[in-house]
Amino acid sequence: MIAVRPRRTLRTVCHVTVVSAFALAAFAPANAQRTATNDLDPRIQKLVAAVSATRMKELDTKLVSFGTRSTLSDATSTTRGAGAARQWIFDELKRSSAKLKVTFDTHQIAQQGRITRNVELRNVMAVLPGKSPRRIYITGHYDSVNLGAGGQTALNAGGANPQGNRDANNDNEAPGANDDGSGTVLTMELARVFAESGIEFDATLVFMCWAGEEQGLIGSMAHAQQLAADKVVVDADFNNDIVGNSTGGNGQVDGKSVRIYSLGPEDNANRALARYIERVAALYVPSHRIRLMAREDRFGRGSDHSSFTANTFPAIVFREANENFARQHSDQDKLEGVDFQYLAQNARVNAASAASLALAPQSPKVMNERGAVMLTRNPSGYDSNLQWTAVPSAVAYRIYWRDTWSNSWEHTQIVGNVTQFVLSGLSIDDWVFGVAAVSADGHESLVTSYVSPTRKMTEIKLVKP
Ligand SMILES: [Zn+2]
Repeated sequence: MIAVRPRRTLRTVCHVTVVSAFALAAFAPANAQRTATNDLDPRIQKLVAAVSATRMKELDTKLVSFGTRSTLSDATSTTRGAGAARQWIFDELKRSSAKLKVTFDTHQIAQQGRITRNVELRNVMAVLPGKSPRRIYITGHYDSVNLGAGGQTALNAGGANPQGNRDANNDNEAPGANDDGSGTVLTMELARVFAESGIEFDATLVFMCWAGEEQGLIGSMAHAQQLAADKVVVDADFNNDIVGNSTGGNGQVDGKSVRIYSLGPEDNANRALARYIERVAALYVPSHRIRLMAREDRFGRGSDHSSFTANTFPAIVFREANENFARQHSDQDKLEGVDFQYLAQNARVNAASAASLALAPQSPKVMNERGAVMLTRNPSGYDSNLQWTAVPSAVAYRIYWRDTWSNSWEHTQIVGNVTQFVLSGLSIDDWVFGVAAVSADGHESLVTSYVSPTRKMTEIKLVKP
């Protein structure tokens, strides 16, 4: 391990005078902020351009034609209900590229909660193998629901939603064009685009259409529990749920932004994933604005990304800018409520960031084998001395830092192929630090933050009277 001693240079950034550092490695550029990472990869540009709004409309039109995709609907019909819909998704994924390994991820779910009888639940899974078995998921739920009169609007107003009503509505019309036909066709379209791109990704990509979301994230939870039991490495889940409508129920139109919700605290991998998407989207889809939301999901609502975070896998959820609740969870969730140009933009944001992450090395670890965070004040006692573990296939690392009260990285510095870097004169008490691994073609991993361990509080023993 080489300690790279930076040259001290005073510089003013964002009204804060900081001591900046310039690496002495091959990567040291004249302007430390500009590196190969900010150069667009033509392979990703091509992949992003291949996303088709027209195809997504065709797919969603077919999905809606099954009448309902409720997990508890009649699964025996070949034209209506969950059985017919999942078989079509399976066949369409298989047809879209010979490179996809398509399977049903089947679970026998016992009666519980909103699952009112034992049911065979099938997620539809398409795998695009990469050089490494580590996985990146792109997901949406194909099941739909009709909660009866008023749908989500009645629920928002505090309306009753008794178990019995849900069961009675299992075979009722539930087109689910947007919830979550939008996330389903986005997932299916990206499966095709990634598989047909010809790019050899480092990570294995998994395109998953979930069932049972509307009964309490049943399909995704059954899958994520199995992943955890099998110790599968999952780097990210890009979950998409209600991502296709650009006209809110309040009349406001927004086809130029999308919300990303991520469970905190602020320096965990979910937040790293959210920041990553924001950075990569700005490069490849600059016309689309990313609105990062520092909470797990919209108020009181949820989706399948929470099955991943509950099993310690990094995950976020995309949500359209401005919802129309009157269409959700009712027979009104129709195709005319989906803006496919807007949906395609959201698909492009997913595509660019998932492709970049799948081409990047894994993120470095900043804790040693004893569980201690590798950040010290050495050598002067007033420096920031960052160490991390070497990542195979990384040719350089990029360190990030920001004010402790800020949520976004403010400063960045590319360093060479080293596992230690000293920022002289920067206090580890006043800044948050992180490090990412960089591949030979400039793709960066998620940033791993240095997080101060929580102190164990001990009970104070008092002298007995
Ligand atoms: Zn949904």
